[in-house]
Amino acid sequence: MQRSCFAVLAACGILVSTTSAAPPLKALLVDGQMNRSHDMQATSVLLKQQLAQTGLFAVDHARSPAKGQDMGRFRPDFAAYHVVVLNYDGDEWPEATKRAFVDYVGGGGGVVVYHSADNAFPNWREFNEMIAVGGWGGRDEKAGPYVRWREGNVVLDATPGPGGGHGPQHEFPLVVREPNHPVTRGLPPVFMHSADELYNRLRGPALNLTVLATAYSPPDKKGTGEHEPMLMAIRFGRGRIFHTALGHGPQQLKSVAFIATYQRGAEWAATGEVSQKVPADFPAADHPNVRP
Ligand code: ZN
Repeated sequence: MQRSCFAVLAACGILVSTTSAAPPLKALLVDGQMNRSHDMQATSVLLKQQLAQTGLFAVDHARSPAKGQDMGRFRPDFAAYHVVVLNYDGDEWPEATKRAFVDYVGGGGGVVVYHSADNAFPNWREFNEMIAVGGWGGRDEKAGPYVRWREGNVVLDATPGPGGGHGPQHEFPLVVREPNHPVTRGLPPVFMHSADELYNRLRGPALNLTVLATAYSPPDKKGTGEHEPMLMAIRFGRGRIFHTALGHGPQQLKSVAFIATYQRGAEWAATGEVSQKVPADFPAADHPNVRP
């Protein structure tokens, strides 16, 4: 009896010390400028919350000066973090900041590229290598190929044309294309996302890219008739980048398909592994799940 009480107390002690400890990972959300199609303020609040909710991340926030203001002092200390989440599309960063970011990622840092952050920096070579593909900003065939999924394989399509597009928002299923990656391991092979923009025609260098999940872009929704990359894992030097094309606005960030893949992608970018369980409300193929 005494022995079992002791064991319970010891277990309690371990539990208490685990739950009261600081989160093991440090995340930095970077925003400050965003194109006018997107509600940066509202999405940044949710992006930070969802990282904190995992219990894995202490989250800091670096907000750049507004568009057209002096960026000279915008120098986040990227190297102090396990993962940097980008919700930024705007003015060029100072050269020293760009260099620090390239050094951070190349040296093993993690990055999450969230939705319209893949519109940023069309002329910054290393950034485009990190995101693999991007849209708008004058991107065309000079940015690199389109990335398609055809007959079980990634196909790099060099057809000339603009980069970036989407039709009206609609619900769409995601199809896992790499079930053995830490981000996708254990997810259903097909799962439904709530009504969102389905990005198409993204293009870029597409180096060191693993397409984790695609979505079919239907022509009757102004789509391409192609399976477009939605969730991507990219290597840049020793760094890891998780790129999600999902999540146009605060409403879309309530979709469990977004939340769980974002949380898993951020952990993988930070550590190379995923310890999180697939949540019980993760959607199957038939309908999306949305949290309040
Ligand atoms: Zn959008």
